[in-house]
Amino acid sequence: MNAGERGGKRLFMALLLALGAVLAGVGAVLWLLPRWFAGAEAWLPTLLGALFGGIALLAWAGIAILVFAFLFERDLPGTRRLRGLLVKGVFPALVAVARLFGIPKRQVERSYIAVNNQLVLRSGCKAPPERVLILLPHCLQVDTCSVRITGDVHNCRGCGRCPIAGLVEIGDRRGIHLSVATGGTIARRIIVEQRPQVILAVACERDLTSGIQDAHPLPVYGILNRRPQGPCRNTEVDLSEVERGLALISRGAVVRPAPSPAAVSGER
Ligand code: SF4
Repeated sequence: MNAGERGGKRLFMALLLALGAVLAGVGAVLWLLPRWFAGAEAWLPTLLGALFGGIALLAWAGIAILVFAFLFERDLPGTRRLRGLLVKGVFPALVAVARLFGIPKRQVERSYIAVNNQLVLRSGCKAPPERVLILLPHCLQVDTCSVRITGDVHNCRGCGRCPIAGLVEIGDRRGIHLSVATGGTIARRIIVEQRPQVILAVACERDLTSGIQDAHPLPVYGILNRRPQGPCRNTEVDLSEVERGLALISRGAVVRPAPSPAAVSGER
């Protein structure tokens, strides 16, 4: 785990704890509030108190399991199921809590992706190369390139002006399918067609976060792109991070030798 991932995990835990405190506070107020009204029926405060107390307790139990898993890198019963709750339910609440502390949404998204990756790896989701899908954003292709790679990424001529050439080489060497998606709808169609068991996706914070949520329960290992020219234009990705991610999620990979430099730079 690199420093960025550790920092992301820490922020996520801190936000989870803050969310727990907010929930406990709301639960306590809701428990006490009806009792402050002298005219309230006796059963009503008890029912409301039990209801909100129960919700707060459940939320705290979930938070405690996740914090334990993150701190000690060990799963308690229910940790895997909590990934669903984390993916679908907890993230918007964490963004709201982060806003209270002035933490930007992008930072929360980064921490969410780091924690999601940890949970994906710990779920033991390694798949054979033919059931792994590398999903790439179109903005990785340099905007002066006229080759159409959205239908078939192998149309790339391997000139090396953008990361697509290296990504195609990695995919071919490992026997893993690559697709380029121009948006969420296309990405969903590719997933339906390819039927992967696990996805390695490259994108920005926002697209990775929504992609992880959309694809759930399919596990998505996310890698952030770099944007030296701003969003959605001539973006980059660290190929060694892609190799590292694939080594973690793909079983029995590295099936073909790397092609010679002459073959990579030659026309396909
Ligand atoms: S590597 Fe070259 S040919 Fe391939 S997509 Fe990038 S610019 Fe186009």
